[in-house]
Amino acid sequence: MIEASYDTVIIGGGPGGYTAALYCARAGLKTLLLEKLSPGGQMATTSQVDNYPGFENGVDGFELGEKMKQGADRFGAESALSEVTAVDLASSPKRIVTPDGAYEAKTVILATGASPRTLGLPEEARLVSRGVAYCATCDGMLYKGKTVIVSGGGDTAVTDALFLSKICSRVYLVHRRDTLRASKSFLAALRSAPNLTFIADSRISGILYDKKVTGAKIENVKTGGLTELACDGIFVAIGRIPNSGLFRGQVDMDESGYIVADETTRTSVPGVFAVGDVRTKPLRQIVTAASDGAVASKFAEEYLMEDR
Ligand SMILES: Cc1cc2nc3c(=O)[nH]c(=O)nc-3n(C[C@H](O)[C@H](O)[C@H](O)COP(=O)(O)OP(=O)(O)OC[C@H]3O[C@@H](n4cnc5c(N)ncnc54)[C@H](O)[C@@H]3O)c2cc1C
Repeated sequence: MIEASYDTVIIGGGPGGYTAALYCARAGLKTLLLEKLSPGGQMATTSQVDNYPGFENGVDGFELGEKMKQGADRFGAESALSEVTAVDLASSPKRIVTPDGAYEAKTVILATGASPRTLGLPEEARLVSRGVAYCATCDGMLYKGKTVIVSGGGDTAVTDALFLSKICSRVYLVHRRDTLRASKSFLAALRSAPNLTFIADSRISGILYDKKVTGAKIENVKTGGLTELACDGIFVAIGRIPNSGLFRGQVDMDESGYIVADETTRTSVPGVFAVGDVRTKPLRQIVTAASDGAVASKFAEEYLMEDR
């Protein structure tokens, strides 16, 4: 049974989704946002956001999520705490299914984000924001003058290690293979960074901590030998998983599962837009997700006008 019909339904209540909701509601579109957990998405898991403009002392990520929701509420965007379990993006109107009922929408904005790949260690989740981090651009400055370990061997891990080497006193890059998969120019920069050490054939097999991270257990994957390395932070840079499984087969995706959409946020399906971390883009941050949300509203409006 269809619960209600909307001009736009937004799936996901992170900064991308709530900015889209704010802009769509202010543009007079009948707007519903569906979020399965709580407002804020990934940023709600960090207590200190220092690079979202307008907060000179930084802001708690959970609080920022609440503020984004309240801003959208103020202009009449509806929100429901409900997980979207199925969609039909090709039909007209489009159909969005949740355990609480199904909705129809003329346009759909996909804002389901991405999740960082974790090391899979039992103590890891409880140490997030207490020494375990997944984003050097976000959290690097918190480790100014300190020692950190970066785990990973691709472009992201190497660029994170290089970025951190300019802020931190010492950086260790730990990778399970003997070579790194990063591009040549990054490798050359890596070799010339005086405070950066590459530890090959190794993985982080445990985290040492009291209230915060104090070090890591490093296992040599060839010999099985274990060493302990003191550090203040561990940056996990082993990739991200886009939350796009629900849309597979309905919109074009790249080989990693990111929804293909350019700066217009238009996807391969007319009337369907993708914003934030779930779409193909060079920088996944709060400010770029929010920016996408604003852009999606413009193109959703344009689509609705053409559709009339
Ligand atoms: C620990 C941590 C710290 C970070 N710190 C910073 C920082 O300091 N500065 C910065 O700029 N960036 C930071 N980031 C990155 C930033 O949080 C993300 O780039 C941003 O949140 C992406 O926004 P989004 O709206 O695209 O998606 P997300 O924030 O990932 O939100 C997606 C939302 O969709 C919901 N969802 C998914 N599937 C469904 C479904 N089927 N039905 C309903 N809801 C669904 C999820 O529950 C989630 O709330 C950090 C990330 C992490 C993990």
